[in-house]
Amino acid sequence: MQMSATPRLTRMIERLNQEREALLAYPWDELVTIIQEVGFSCTCCGRCCTREFNGHLLLLEEDTERVLEMAPGALIPAPYFEYCDNTGILYTSGYTLRMKEDGSCHFLGPDRRCTIYAERMGICRLYPYMLHREPGEDGSIDWRQIAGLNQHGEYHDEIERVEAEKIAAAVLTYEEAYLAEEIAFLEALKAHFQKEKLRHIPKILDQQMAAFRRGEPVPVKIYYKGAFVDGIADCRESGMEPHRPGKR
Ligand code: SF4
Ligand code: SF4
Repeated sequence: MQMSATPRLTRMIERLNQEREALLAYPWDELVTIIQEVGFSCTCCGRCCTREFNGHLLLLEEDTERVLEMAPGALIPAPYFEYCDNTGILYTSGYTLRMKEDGSCHFLGPDRRCTIYAERMGICRLYPYMLHREPGEDGSIDWRQIAGLNQHGEYHDEIERVEAEKIAAAVLTYEEAYLAEEIAFLEALKAHFQKEKLRHIPKILDQQMAAFRRGEPVPVKIYYKGAFVDGIADCRESGMEPHRPGKR
């Protein structure tokens, strides 16, 4: 079945714009108070830099710029493919960091410390602080402020108000920048599909995703700094085990 991608993209853009408005309206005092009350303290276990704890990092364009200067080979297309055109090309917003075969970040050292600590990614500086809505254990969608609450680190440390405000400001800046980049990607995708008269065909997306999961290279267009860059999606570069029939 052939489908115009435009209505779906329009709905997604509207939803993200609403999310952005809700983010900006989130009560500042409440966020600062939660950060103080939780009193999170990192124990430097390094688990958040591995697949044990997290999927791929969401890099902002400023993060990608730094990695391009330091180690361009560490970048791979962000493997979140929801859009595919009728020629079989996948689309994604930006890059992520390559993972090693053991599921750890390209930059995690053998001592479980970040080898680029001073230049680490924006999300790495904030983690585990966050501010977005997602389903909880009971499935209800609500705001989440701390990732993996009670599953890592230590709690009830004393965090001064001024420090909690700095964290809250950094969280809001990051989340807003992330939403702005997602909205720009979807708007560019919508314009690209309209201009090139491309169609979204779910069956072709399914076929390309199956090829990707089998470890076959699949063409992808990566949205970066206002344009689509040609690339190849390869699940082995993402530290994923190719899925073969009969193997679990
Ligand atoms: S860049 Fe550094 S801090 Fe960020 S996930 Fe990789 S190893 Fe961890
Ligand atoms: S943020 Fe959490 S998972 Fe990451 S190193 Fe610190 S305690 Fe470990």
